[in-house]
Amino acid sequence: MTRYEYPAVVVFDLDYTLWPCWCDTHLSPPIKPVSKTRVVDHYGMELSMYKDVESIMVELEANGVEIVGASRTATPRIAQELLSRLHINGKPSMKYFANLQWGQGTKTRHILRAAKELGMTKELEAGMFILFDDEWRNRDVESINCHFGHIVDERKGLTREIFEKKLIEWTKLQNEQH
Ligand SMILES: [Mg+2]
Repeated sequence: MTRYEYPAVVVFDLDYTLWPCWCDTHLSPPIKPVSKTRVVDHYGMELSMYKDVESIMVELEANGVEIVGASRTATPRIAQELLSRLHINGKPSMKYFANLQWGQGTKTRHILRAAKELGMTKELEAGMFILFDDEWRNRDVESINCHFGHIVDERKGLTREIFEKKLIEWTKLQNEQH
């Protein structure tokens, strides 16, 4: 039995949500693959995505949810390289994203832009977006009706527990409103 339904769009922060580092300050190019799911940087620091990311991405894709990335990183090039080198279920993780937004400043701007580019402004207004992010300040996206799932532990990042808890809570809210 499904315990939750799916929103139209799930937005993910990258650093400390999908992988355990600030890719612009902790990683030094060149970044080389160690395996399909692991890379190593110039100084030998190895990195892979948090362990529950794969099954969550695969589940969202299988259920027709649009996946968006929103990052304030100062070096999108490194983040993009990680997304193309780190694979999910045999496919570069980059391919799971329908839209990627970069740049400093509030994530309300990233999400408004993504919604516009995807032609999903109505879905955003209707509360059909959820952002998962480790930074509490990004909770300001609630001002544009985007729901917020907080990543609480940087050692664990996005976990299935956080993901499911948020989706159950969101589903309950939807059912109360309709
Ligand atoms: Mg982050």
